[in-house]
Amino acid sequence: MTTRYYHHPIHLEHLTPPGHPERPDRLKAIEKVLAHEAFAPLDRVESPMGVGEAVLLAHPRHYLDRIEAAIPQTGMARIDADTSVSPKSWQAAMTGVGAACAAVDDVFLGRAANAFVSARPPGHHAEKATAMGFCLFNNAAIAARHAQKVHGAARVAIVDWDVHHGNGTQDIFWTDPSVLYCSTHQMPLYPGTGAKDETGVGNIVNAPLAPDSDGDMFRDAFESRVLPAIDAFRPDLVIISAGFDAHHRDPLAEINLVEDDFSWATGKLMDRADRFASGRLVSLLEGGYDLQGLALSVAAHVGRLMRG
Ligand SMILES: [Zn+2]
Repeated sequence: MTTRYYHHPIHLEHLTPPGHPERPDRLKAIEKVLAHEAFAPLDRVESPMGVGEAVLLAHPRHYLDRIEAAIPQTGMARIDADTSVSPKSWQAAMTGVGAACAAVDDVFLGRAANAFVSARPPGHHAEKATAMGFCLFNNAAIAARHAQKVHGAARVAIVDWDVHHGNGTQDIFWTDPSVLYCSTHQMPLYPGTGAKDETGVGNIVNAPLAPDSDGDMFRDAFESRVLPAIDAFRPDLVIISAGFDAHHRDPLAEINLVEDDFSWATGKLMDRADRFASGRLVSLLEGGYDLQGLALSVAAHVGRLMRG
């Protein structure tokens, strides 16, 4: 078994205003780096379109309907100050949902050792009924609920190392002890949530990092807060909200990780997945806005997933 890589050209057709950091070129940079011969063994799969029922695992019907109704025939429509939609955004977002669920199916059915989904728009800022922070549907939350509903997973751990706090994922699972949400992120920074004392029903573990933190501080947060929480929780599936905007080159934050830090964290989570979840691990792209930093970080992350 190998690592599955989900991708689809529809994700390039979700358009954002000129100068917006969350742009199609991000996925082109990932495609380019993963075209290198070192990644030839990747199992490349065109992402399937998701279904509304999957979205409803994490969002109410009125929210799904509101997003669909907001899609313009031409041009762009703003949903909030920094979140917009274009004519193909519905297909792009639903394909991200479809790929996240398919990747979960793969690891439960033994079709892949693990999987990485390259999709946009990202998901972790999308709350139950609020689109924000470039996000429409919370792919990680939907994937977790899909694992529980379809594959009988009792406990799912979502680890979010995007440099921004995943307020949406925290919101969706705030009172749900069957999902552990662990996040490392810069604080203070958008969206403002993610303090250590935000703990839900004991299932939320926030490990905020001060601006200018480096890889040592990130690894310390992982080892002192994230990994012990996973060990105590014993998940049946590990989902990574894999944002790469904590890279030192990223323009949206001031954390100074290098590619090897993402490779290291990937390995630690693979170790936990092996120990508790028969290796089941699904990684979903979130942020990452410097094209070179993003490409190098994804290469390190996916390369580590492939090494097993
Ligand atoms: Zn981010």
